Amino acid sequence: MALLGNGHSEEFLRKRREQERRKREKRRKLMKAAAAVLIVVICVGSIAGISSAMSSKSGKSTGTQITETTSLSAEAASDSKQTTAETTSGTEAETEQTLQEETAEDQTDETQAEETTAEETQAEETTAEETEAEETTAEETRTLEEAATSPDPDVPEGSRVVYLTFDDGPSGITMELLDTLDSCGVKATFFLVGQKVDQMPDLAAEIVNRGHAVGLHSYDHDYNILYSSLDAFINSTLQAQTSLYNATGVTSWLYRFPGGSSNLVHQSVSDISMTDCANWLTENGFSYVDWNVDSGDAEDSVDHTADEIAQNVINGVCGTDMAVVLMHNYGSREATIQAIPTIVETLRSEGYVFSTLKAGGPTIHHRVPD
Ligand code: ZN
Repeated sequence: MALLGNGHSEEFLRKRREQERRKREKRRKLMKAAAAVLIVVICVGSIAGISSAMSSKSGKSTGTQITETTSLSAEAASDSKQTTAETTSGTEAETEQTLQEETAEDQTDETQAEETTAEETQAEETTAEETEAEETTAEETRTLEEAATSPDPDVPEGSRVVYLTFDDGPSGITMELLDTLDSCGVKATFFLVGQKVDQMPDLAAEIVNRGHAVGLHSYDHDYNILYSSLDAFINSTLQAQTSLYNATGVTSWLYRFPGGSSNLVHQSVSDISMTDCANWLTENGFSYVDWNVDSGDAEDSVDHTADEIAQNVINGVCGTDMAVVLMHNYGSREATIQAIPTIVETLRSEGYVFSTLKAGGPTIHHRVPD
């Protein structure tokens, strides 16, 4: 199946290259800003040390100045709209002002050094996203694992988190699912099938409008096409991305393999390598996400009740610090929807928070068979 004409595919590749170029440019600027912060601290530390030896005066006001400088620099670094020149010159101006002030107490210096170190670490983590995406493949132990990624900014530090994910939509019961999630006050992640998005673009848009995350789940979920070759896999992924963008305006870099990255079904289709597919995704800016908790709602042989699905999820999540829960949003999966209030109420009472998956964020990878 010719999922994409060459021109269409190339257009997307071009857009992606452009996005990646911008991403690299942004990181380059962030690194410059982080370096400027480091210089500030070294200068302030040196001056403060000399002055302290000579005898210190009123350190409190200077401490405030330094704090403002550092925090301004951090804001500048996090604002992608600011240019490097603006950020750097702003930092330098603040530095000069700070240096003209009276000296700080040694204790204040230590605090500042710690704060700045933390900020530098954050900056390094942010700029390392791309590297991590590349390294994930090489370092992956091919077992169920949490891949090394950036923290989820929506999750308070130290919290245990649940990511509810719904595959195979949109469908005729998507609105019912969205209403249920709203009534529970929970945001989820939907891995959508491109062909269904083309058929029901309004539902895809509604998912986004309600504040949920959307990811790609192939174009037509037909294993015989999807896994017929690496080219077919790539075309399916890009076409799904196109469909989702056309319906929602969102360019998603999140991906879930139909059958999971550890599926064996591909072996009966062709000699395609799941490792090659996974590598292609990560090398081209995508993040793929499997799951570590299966609700069991897609087992063909068993028609689970809502209570059974809820128990499957609760039992699977409890004991983990981070759970990615596999659920489905197609056809007759009403029981899945009915299970949600119990799942949310129970897990919240256990201290879990709910969040949405992000490309480059926390993820779960299955073993990837060749
Ligand atoms: Zn699926």
